[in-house]
Amino acid sequence: MILIDTHTHLYSEEFATDRTEMMERALQNNVQHFFVPAIDASYFNGMQQIKEQYPNNVHLMMGLHPCYVKPETYEEELAFVKKQLDTNAYCAVGEIGVDLYWDKTTLALQQQAFATQIQWAKKLGLPINIHCRDAFDEVFEVLEQEKSNELFGIFHCFTGNFNQAQKALSLNMKLGIGGVATFKNGKIDQFLNEIPLTEIVLETDAPYLAPAPHRGKRNESSYVSLVAQKLAVIYNTTVNQIAEQTTKNALNIFKL
Ligand SMILES: [Zn+2]
Repeated sequence: MILIDTHTHLYSEEFATDRTEMMERALQNNVQHFFVPAIDASYFNGMQQIKEQYPNNVHLMMGLHPCYVKPETYEEELAFVKKQLDTNAYCAVGEIGVDLYWDKTTLALQQQAFATQIQWAKKLGLPINIHCRDAFDEVFEVLEQEKSNELFGIFHCFTGNFNQAQKALSLNMKLGIGGVATFKNGKIDQFLNEIPLTEIVLETDAPYLAPAPHRGKRNESSYVSLVAQKLAVIYNTTVNQIAEQTTKNALNIFKL
């Protein structure tokens, strides 16, 4: 069995004291590939280090996280992203999108940065990895505007309803499913079995959003197996079948 964590912040300061052990646990738990989203330039060295340590297992994305789109710095940050993407060392553009939970005042700027980075992804033939928090309409507005055959990717940590899931799929996006599927009030477990398994990829978003029974504690990539177990229940199938299909989907999107 091979599992893939399509969204994990391996470089996080939360793993400063036991990063190697954390990686060992994940590899022991059949997690073979780790897709690592960018946040801003300050995390660049940490990303490079984990890639050097696990060159065959770790795959880096590049992008500017919507919470870090600020009027004073976004131009410089975007220039950095562009320069990095042009080195062709990245598997996706992410995480990018809109977050209105933390800051509503930067909405216009967030949407502009999102659109710009989508255009780069399309030109480079790369998938995008979308961060969307309290902002489905605002994310869909940009996706509609940039819609094309070249636009594809993953709606990371999908937490929407059935209609929003359908809409995401119609825009060439897969759904990234993580710990929220295991939460009692997470809601997505109620309709997920109506979404074909071919449209689903697994993720942790470690160190955030740990699945049950670790909810509220630090998350790590080995827990992607708990998400697979929950999906086996939701889809009334085996963990092996969940692993096989979601791994195939992920390898496909990231062209591995
Ligand atoms: Zn993330």
